Amino acid sequence: MDFSPIAPMECAAKIRNAKKMAVLTGAGLSTSAGVPDFRGPRGLYVTRAYDPETVFAIDHFDRDPGPFYAFSRDFLAMLEKISPTPTHRFLARLEADGRDIGIVTQNIDGLHQLAGSRRVYPIHGDYRTAHCRRCGKDCDGDELAARLKASAEVPVCSACGGTIKPDVVFFGENVRNLPEALSLAAASDLMLVLGSSLAVYPAASLPSSAGGEVIVVNRGPVALGPGRGIYLADAGLDEFFAEVEEQLMGGGG
Ligand SMILES: [Zn+2]
Repeated sequence: MDFSPIAPMECAAKIRNAKKMAVLTGAGLSTSAGVPDFRGPRGLYVTRAYDPETVFAIDHFDRDPGPFYAFSRDFLAMLEKISPTPTHRFLARLEADGRDIGIVTQNIDGLHQLAGSRRVYPIHGDYRTAHCRRCGKDCDGDELAARLKASAEVPVCSACGGTIKPDVVFFGENVRNLPEALSLAAASDLMLVLGSSLAVYPAASLPSSAGGEVIVVNRGPVALGPGRGIYLADAGLDEFFAEVEEQLMGGGG
C-alpha cells in the first residue's frame, strides 16, 4: 500500500483545522450497530437467503414486490432493535458543535439521522419516504412501516391501488442526491471516507472529486488509487474515532 498511514492524533488535528468537511460512509460504519453488510459474508442475503438480484431489481419489483417486502419486514424489524454507533454520534456532535460538515451515505438504515445529523445525503435512498409506482403519490415512511407490521400484504396506494415502493435505490435506478454529494465533496477541504471499500459507483468516484485531503478509515482493502493528500487507517471506526474525539476535546477543538 502506498497510502500515507494516519493516526487518530493526526486525524484530530486535520478535523480541528478543517473549514468544510465532507464525509462518505458505507456499510462498515453500521456493522458495529448490528446492521449486516449486505455484501459481506454475514449479510442478510446469505443468512436469510435473500437474493439481491431479485430483492433490489426494479423490474422484479414491478412483477412481484413480495421478495422485497419480505426483506423489508426483516430489515425494518432489525432497525427497531439497534442504535447508532459511537462514530455516528461523533459525526452528529461535530455538526452540533457548529462545524461545517455534510454526510453522504451509501447506507439505507437512517442511522445518521437517528444520531442527530441533519445534513445527510443518502445516495442509495432510505425507508423514510416512499412513493406509489403508478401515480407517484407520497407515502410517509413511518406510516409504511406501521402498515408492514400490521399486515403481511404488499402495501398499495390509497389513491390508485398501485404498489408503494420505499425510496430505496434499486439496481437500474438512478442514485439520489448526486449533485449535492459532488458539490459537497468539491467544496470540502477535508473528506473522511468511513467504512466504505469504495467498490460501488458513484460513491467510489467521490474521493477523486474532493477539494482537499482525504482520510480513509476502513477495515480491509479499499479501491482507491494512492495520491497526494490521501491518508489511510486500517482500523476499527469506533476505536479510532474515540481516540480522535479525546484528542479534539483535549486540544480545545
Ligand atoms: Zn397511486
